[in-house]
Amino acid sequence: MKNAFIPYGHQSISESDVSKVSEVLRSEFLTSGPCVEKFELEFADKVGAKFAIAVNSATAALHLAMRVAGVKEGDRVITSPNTFLASANAAAYVGATPDFTDIDRVSHNLDPEELRGKWSTDIKAVVAVDYAGQPCDLPKIANIARANGAVVIEDACHGVGGGFEHNGKIWKIGGHEWADITVFSFHPVKTMTTGEGGMLVTNNKIWVDEVRRLRSHGVERREFFGLGADQDKEMCEKGPWYYEMQSLGYNYRLPDILCALGSSQLSRLECFIAQRREIVAQYNAGLSNIEWLTTPAVLHPGNKDLISWHLYTVEIDFPSIGKNRTEVMRELRDEGIGTQVLYIPVYLQPWYRAKFGYELGKCPVAETHYRKSLSLPLYSSLTTEEVERVIMAIKALGKARKI
Ligand SMILES: *Cc1c(COP(=O)(O)O)cnc(C)c1O
Repeated sequence: MKNAFIPYGHQSISESDVSKVSEVLRSEFLTSGPCVEKFELEFADKVGAKFAIAVNSATAALHLAMRVAGVKEGDRVITSPNTFLASANAAAYVGATPDFTDIDRVSHNLDPEELRGKWSTDIKAVVAVDYAGQPCDLPKIANIARANGAVVIEDACHGVGGGFEHNGKIWKIGGHEWADITVFSFHPVKTMTTGEGGMLVTNNKIWVDEVRRLRSHGVERREFFGLGADQDKEMCEKGPWYYEMQSLGYNYRLPDILCALGSSQLSRLECFIAQRREIVAQYNAGLSNIEWLTTPAVLHPGNKDLISWHLYTVEIDFPSIGKNRTEVMRELRDEGIGTQVLYIPVYLQPWYRAKFGYELGKCPVAETHYRKSLSLPLYSSLTTEEVERVIMAIKALGKARKI
């Protein structure tokens, strides 16, 4: 009997998720109805933030973060090279220069000392990415950024529901004081999903109002300044229809249909995280003591039990098993196992090279990690047997070692 294919990531949709969405489909509002605020309030409560604003992707959330933080042309924004493109692209959307400082060898997150060493006065924001779910050293990063008047945006697309330890206390991602804005993604490969979707959380009330406006075309319904200097009396009348646009916004709304799915998935989040932690523990045990493979390590021991794992990325010394990564991925695929390489250092993308002149060698630690990295299947519905199958297939890679 052929084993079922194990993809590297997969959503978990329950019958109760389906029925929550169906309810909305039969209701009055498909978008901008009561499910949006409900999801936002529940999410803010879960992560310990004052405000949460639902948007239709984390990319949109990052873009809005740049807008409300006032990042603009001539500014520089630092992010990790070891991330998805969107973390950096958002800076370019507002005309700023996305730039990168190197990562540390253990967590593969932004190295605060590198950030400090490479600081320049035009840096207006830092996008700190919690790679694989492991939190960055936010207190240190915030210290450096804020001393220089820069804003800290935490890209927690991998880390929903996670936390970290600092000064003997436990802090939630989204609910601590060292990020000015935190963004989350609900893409299907992430820990919880709305199909497409994202969330921006902050404690800054002024930004909240601005994000809400920008999410919906920059339009405001409350009485504002008036359309302009029109002398025409009728043009100046502010009746119940009145709406006004003071800034250029977008359509970044997350529909009720998807917010209902979000609320339902959020109610299962603790369970998703626990299942992922168990899988990570099984991988760690099964893949320890392999000389050509390094399992993910936790930089700060206090964070060990607080991480919401999104990726399980191992480092493989490919030359020592006599196979390149393409061959390994093919071999695993033939065994019915999907893997991914996350991520190509963003600055090596053709657009970044052409636009900003970035070259190989810019962030050597990120490049070394990239050459060795392989992300194994990790999603909440993976069974113990399936994880064991992956472990056996990985171990077998080394058996045919060329001598
Ligand atoms: C998935 C992801 C994004 C983008 O999320 P979308 O919701 O697909 O826009 C941004 N940053 C990181 C680190 C991600 O993993």
